[in-house]
This record gives sequence, C-alpha cells and structure tokens, in this order.
Amino acid sequence: AKRMGGDRVEVFRPTLQGEGANRLELEADLRKALKTDGISVFYQPIVRLADRSIAGFEVLARWNHPSRGAISPLEFIPVAEQSGLINELGMFVLDRGARQLSDWQSNFRLPVPLFVSVNISSRQLLRHDLINDVKAVLSRSALAPGTLKLELTESVVMANPEYSAKMLERLRALGAGLSLDDFGTGYSSLSYLQRFRFDTIKVDQSFVRPNGRSARPVILRSIIALGHDLGMQVVAEGAESESDSLELHQLGCEYAQGFLFGQPMEAAQATKLLEAEMAS
Ligand code: C2E
Ligand code: CA
Ligand code: CA
Ligand code: CA
Repeated sequence: AKRMGGDRVEVFRPTLQGEGANRLELEADLRKALKTDGISVFYQPIVRLADRSIAGFEVLARWNHPSRGAISPLEFIPVAEQSGLINELGMFVLDRGARQLSDWQSNFRLPVPLFVSVNISSRQLLRHDLINDVKAVLSRSALAPGTLKLELTESVVMANPEYSAKMLERLRALGAGLSLDDFGTGYSSLSYLQRFRFDTIKVDQSFVRPNGRSARPVILRSIIALGHDLGMQVVAEGAESESDSLELHQLGCEYAQGFLFGQPMEAAQATKLLEAEMAS
C-alpha cells in the first residue's frame, strides 16, 4: 500500500492474505498439473565455443497453466519447494531427461556422447531417496558414464555442507556428473570447491553479459581460470550476443549456453537441431 495525499491509501499490491491464498491456489493447481501432464520439459543447447557444436542440453521444467498460460519456473519452483511437490516434479524432470538422453545417445553416435543436465533443489538433495531414484534412472537407461549431470547451486550444497558432501560422493559413485550452478552468486568459501569435487561449474549470467560494472571481465577471467585449475569444465550461462561469445572464447571458456545458441525448446526441435548438425 502506498500513502497518497491526506489519508487516502491506494493499494497497488495484493494484501498478504491475498498472496497467501494465491500461493495455496497455485500449489493446488501444481499438484493437479503433475497428475495430468500439465508439466513438461524443454531443452536448451549447451555448445562448444570452439565450433558451436552441441555438447549437451539443460533440461528445464515448463508449466502451461489451463487459465493463466505459461507460468515461469521462477514462480512455480519456489511453490514446489515450499510444498514438497518438488520431489515429484524433480523426479519427473530427471526421468524425462534421462529417457530423452538415452534416445539421443542411441540415435546420434557422436565422437563424444551428448549429455543432459538436470536441476536438483535443496529439498531433493536432503531427501535420502534421491540416491535410489538416481540409481533407478541410471540403471534403466544405460547412459554413457557421467552424461547425466545434476546441477546444484552453491546455496543448495552450503545449506548442509557435511551431508551434501556425502550425498555428492554417493551420486558420483553411481555415475552421475555434477555441475555447480549459478557460480559466483552464492556465498561459498572457495575451499569448498575442492572438497565437493564438481566436474563442471556454470558461471552465472551476471558475470557473462556486460552490465556496466568495470570489474566484470576480471572476475569472469578469474572464475574460468579457477575452474580449469581445479580440473573442472566451465560452462558460461546467458550468452546472448556474438560479442559475449567472442569474449568467452578468448578467455578460454569451452562451453556456453544462451539465447545466442538457442532458447529452451521442445524435445522434437532439439532432435531436429541434432539432425541438422549430423547432416552438415
Ligand atoms: P537456471 O538453472 O539458472 O536456468 C537457466 C535459466 O536462464 C533458464 O530460465 C533459461 O531459460 C535462462 N536463460 C538461458 N539462456 C539465457 C540467456 O541468454 N539470457 C537470459 N536472459 N536468460 C537465459 P528458466 O527456464 O526460466 O528457469 C529459471 C530457473 O528455474 C532455473 O535457473 C532454475 O533455477 C529453475 N528451474 C527450472 N527448471 C527447474 C527444474 O526442473 N528443477 C528445479 N529445481 N529448478 C528448475
Ligand atoms: Ca541450472
Ligand atoms: Ca544457472
Ligand atoms: Ca539462475
């Protein structure tokens, strides 16, 4: 509410009560969507900067709401986390992504096998069954080792470092790849990087695109070098322009993801991209 002249108060935002009701409604709708094919997954290409060939895809959840239309994951993932529905949603995304990857790996015999990368939230990592779920998915799909990658943010692992370290080792032992997502936005001490043994870091978009802060290129260069010095692959997120891409390549970054190389898309469209690449 914003105070206007005199005693008049004009309401610009819903009341707290209204927001709570909206969240509950969204939660109920999400529960329904999970039961009725309302949730789907899109795939966004991750390319090698050297030749722009497709190295893999990030799997991103999508929700087409019956009356509201497309709802951003930035809105529904928090609702899923708070309500616990993230376990079901996360499992759905993991399962879809792994099946799709299995199809692609058998249909496209690439010199280096394709990977897919799936987001895992803190609530999923804390749930003990995640190990069994990942194990079941991997044993069913016969994927090349390390090609099903799990993306975790710094805040996810830092919420409970001791426990996370154990979980990550167990996931790695099963043959899952591990990516540290949104790198640079969290509050981790750098020493944790070695302890957690990620194979990939994903540099957050805020370091990748020009934003007027003069320290940005220096930080970007340092993050890429740090990743490489620790033996990790480095993926830059949010490359939107040719100049972003050129800068990343010059700084020695091998992989990038962003609107320049492709928006998140349906599986069929991603398959067409792969076919086009095989034909060229
Ligand atoms: P994220 O994991 O950092 O995913 C990357 C986000 O950046 C995606 O947004 C993608 O569409 C967007 N993006 C990619 N390239 C560009 C670019 O060049 N420019 C700009 N401006 N944006 C770009 P999306 O799909 O809306 O997802 C938002 C966030 O929601 C994700 O951020 C992730 O944190 C979460 N999310 C999405 N799907 C899932 C899921 O299945 N499980 C979990 N736990 N979280 C998910
Ligand atoms: Ca991600
Ligand atoms: Ca990210
Ligand atoms: Ca993000």
